[in-house]
Amino acid sequence: MIINILDISISNRIAAGEVVENPSSVVKELLDNSIDAGANEICVKIQEGGIKSIEVSDNGSGIPQKELPKSILTNATSKISTSDDLFSISTLGFRGEALSSIASVSEFEIKTRSSSDANGALLVYKNDKAIVSDYAWENGTFVSVKNLFYNTPARYKFLSSMSVEENNIKKVLFQYILSNPYIQFNYITNNKLVYSSDGQGLKSAINSVYCKDIAPKLLFIDDTSSPIKITGYLSPPNIFKHNRNMQTIVINGRVINDSNISSIVQNAYDGSLMKHCFPIFVLHILIPFEEVDVNVHPTKKEVRFSNSKKIYGKIYNSVKTVLEAEKLRKQQEVFDYSSTISKPQLSKQNAPIIILDKEITSEIPSILNNSVKDISFFDNSISTGKIDETDFSIKSNDAKINKLEESIQYDYSVIGQVFDTYLIIEVKDTVFFIDQHALHEKILYDSFLQELNENKRMIQPLLIPELFICTNSQKEALIRLQDKLASLGFEIDDFGENTIRISTVPSILSDKVDLILLFEQISRDINPNISLNSVKMLFNDKIAMMACKAAIKGNTEISKDKINLIIKYFFDSGFPLQCPHGRPTFATFSKNDFEKLFKRKV
Ligand code: ADP
Ligand code: MG
Repeated sequence: MIINILDISISNRIAAGEVVENPSSVVKELLDNSIDAGANEICVKIQEGGIKSIEVSDNGSGIPQKELPKSILTNATSKISTSDDLFSISTLGFRGEALSSIASVSEFEIKTRSSSDANGALLVYKNDKAIVSDYAWENGTFVSVKNLFYNTPARYKFLSSMSVEENNIKKVLFQYILSNPYIQFNYITNNKLVYSSDGQGLKSAINSVYCKDIAPKLLFIDDTSSPIKITGYLSPPNIFKHNRNMQTIVINGRVINDSNISSIVQNAYDGSLMKHCFPIFVLHILIPFEEVDVNVHPTKKEVRFSNSKKIYGKIYNSVKTVLEAEKLRKQQEVFDYSSTISKPQLSKQNAPIIILDKEITSEIPSILNNSVKDISFFDNSISTGKIDETDFSIKSNDAKINKLEESIQYDYSVIGQVFDTYLIIEVKDTVFFIDQHALHEKILYDSFLQELNENKRMIQPLLIPELFICTNSQKEALIRLQDKLASLGFEIDDFGENTIRISTVPSILSDKVDLILLFEQISRDINPNISLNSVKMLFNDKIAMMACKAAIKGNTEISKDKINLIIKYFFDSGFPLQCPHGRPTFATFSKNDFEKLFKRKV
């Protein structure tokens, strides 16, 4: 056997496999270089999904002619020089392998001029040969990559169709425009302008890549109070997508994929988004450089944090704060045009609470073993509970529910029910259309949660303990959660190989959930960072399901008395906007809207 030392051109082509996966990864690397060179104008032109041609030009620092031949050598970088630099990387590139990799698998050209040079220079690289010559060029750099993988047929075969590659490049540009809002980008595909951003900040960057009507509706997030700084925009719960394509996470200027951060943001929306609905957001997160390791993945799409709990907790709290403020603002808006006699200030500490009398309580289907005592406006502990940033466990809701001494009166008249599903009420100058199922579901959900919160220690021993068979790692994870599960009412212990014994359940859940299924879900969702949170989310899901099952359905005629009870709750609880599954509970139409509709007013 002979061991060969590979020729540099072959080893470059092998290395190219790591960095250059497809045309979009070429675009990404070239954009990184332009940004690192301080450009504030970048133009990307592609032909045929980038397979035929990718051209990136910038007005950055340029490459001095005498450095140009080095730029395409392996591990050639101007961005770091010692190993210590690896621990405080502030540029997007640093591995010095992009240009060498790209050049080795394409017909490659650079035209550039650095401000320190009198003339520009041209580098042409083809068939493993680089030729550098003088070339008249303005400041900045132009890189052209043609016929990608022309010399690696196996790689060429693995390219997707032109339209898929083109779409991937579009996604890259989408993310880069959002992550570099002060850079002007033009993106041209097959001679057609696709994106054009003006470099005037995040709002206008969003405008250039999102549909026009979304941008104005986004909520601004700006939390710069600590060393971890979060700014950006996120959608209110009524705007969402069915995938995560419009979620952009930018950490220290670098777009990254982090499913943990995605789920944390999702969790902050809590029950206000329906299943399989994902918020839209752009989050710019600044973290002290020494707390982030960017050297985790060759394509630098992932990073590692030295203290992920602290960072995740911070993100959760910042997003939650914005969403809570928006919720209060919306509720206040409804108050403003509907309350007539008294106008309470809505705040978390001062939510209107009415204790309903017995007669009303008895109307609520008694799904609980113990009857519901009162129905109150109640923010469950997850939606108001802040996450302790050092511990990333959810604190119980220590803000006591403030029961108001006097009940608040509203002047409303119940018009009735239509289509056996919607309740109509008139309040001052507004008509409310309420979805009876969604609202009743919310009533029950709140009361169940309150029951659970007030009677945390109400646990029900199981006559015959349930045995949950699981994998060893699931067992370990569950045992790690033993105390936390106990605080929720589940006592579990290690019952030998691959088995967990469940001996108690919170009494509110007894008989109502398939325990084994619940544990399967819990152990499937267990993630060391957000374990208790996901358990609580699952819990909430279960409770929402119970509420949904027990609530009055649509297409059900209900008595006037019942309508009155539901409506009373609606006012007493501060107009809940959504059911636990995120569907809206009501819509309004004002007198003004009617007047406009009938052209009484223009
Ligand atoms: P890295 O970005 O990791 O340093 P690359 O292979 O991407 O490695 O680039 C090699 C070097 O070429 C860079 O360090 C930089 O000095 C120079 N360079 C590449 N592209 C540009 C550009 N658009 N403008 C200025 N310099 C560039
Ligand atoms: Mg680079």
